[in-house]
Amino acid sequence: MDNLPKNAIEIKNLCKTYKPQGKTPAKEALKDFNLVIPRGSFFALLGPNGAGKSTMINILAGLAIKTSGTAHIWGHDITDDTRAAKRAIGVVPQELNIDPFFTPYEMLEVQAGLYGLKKSDRRSLEILAAMGLADKANSYARTLSGGMRRRLLVAKALVHSPQVLILDEPTAGVDVDLRRQLWTYVRKLNAEGVTVLLTTHYLEEAQELCDHIAIINHGRVIACDTTKNLMGQLDSKRMTIMLVEDLAEIPASLSGFDAVLINPRELEFNYKPSRTQASEIISAVQNAGLKFSELATLEPELEEIFLQLTNDSDQSGGP
Ligand code: ADP
Repeated sequence: MDNLPKNAIEIKNLCKTYKPQGKTPAKEALKDFNLVIPRGSFFALLGPNGAGKSTMINILAGLAIKTSGTAHIWGHDITDDTRAAKRAIGVVPQELNIDPFFTPYEMLEVQAGLYGLKKSDRRSLEILAAMGLADKANSYARTLSGGMRRRLLVAKALVHSPQVLILDEPTAGVDVDLRRQLWTYVRKLNAEGVTVLLTTHYLEEAQELCDHIAIINHGRVIACDTTKNLMGQLDSKRMTIMLVEDLAEIPASLSGFDAVLINPRELEFNYKPSRTQASEIISAVQNAGLKFSELATLEPELEEIFLQLTNDSDQSGGP
């Protein structure tokens, strides 16, 4: 029987308000934030800039203090059991800050020392090799390219063999080859049982890699599901048509659509934009001889975020 926790991370009612500074007013970055990350999942935290992703990660990593609520990592409360909680995660930060006077090998050894790992338990060279940095183990970090620095930060996060690996927008500004290489390795870690949490504002990246996606906006989780279910949800729209005259029943010519007569003057259609165009529905309604005064399509918040994310990644040349 294993004693492994069911969930790698559990966040309940987490709130974070940054205090006002000078003329900058207080900012509620997380509002009643709830999230459960199943053990073993490859989980994407997706949201536009400013949504609160880094704030959440910084709280988990002990770099920011929550205002209220609770968070558990691998069953350990981040406030009551900070050491154990921190030991269970490895965080790859967004910034490429690396001490230029250490070699990659030294850097991993220092990190291992910080976690109190005995020499015999250290795997610095093995991790560097896995990240394709074996031949750079003893070079000064300042001679490493941006891509190599990114891999070195992943290596550093893995030194203490954390059960949960958190990557905070690791591919921002990273070239395609490196991105692929990074994902190959992270996928392998995930296949070996490491739970991976990735923040990104690239929908395509989340969709391709992750089995679960949470979408956050304005400090709240607005959707959280398996990637399959969520993508299905995004491909769902509703159109409401207000009729000029009472309708007793839906005309047979509209039977091919998912139409519901809400009341004698209101007809509702649920459709998948990937399969049906709104114009097809409108033509069918007109061809059925129905006159309408108003027509509205519902843009759920999810859809808006989706569009926003898609535009973001279009503009920044995302994957
Ligand atoms: P994301 O990582 O999704 O881009 P952040 O967590 O960085 O979002 O930011 C969430 C909100 O909190 C933003 O409005 C941001 O301006 C604000 N914020 C982030 N860090 C600080 C800070 N140290 N002090 C004040 N406000 C902050």
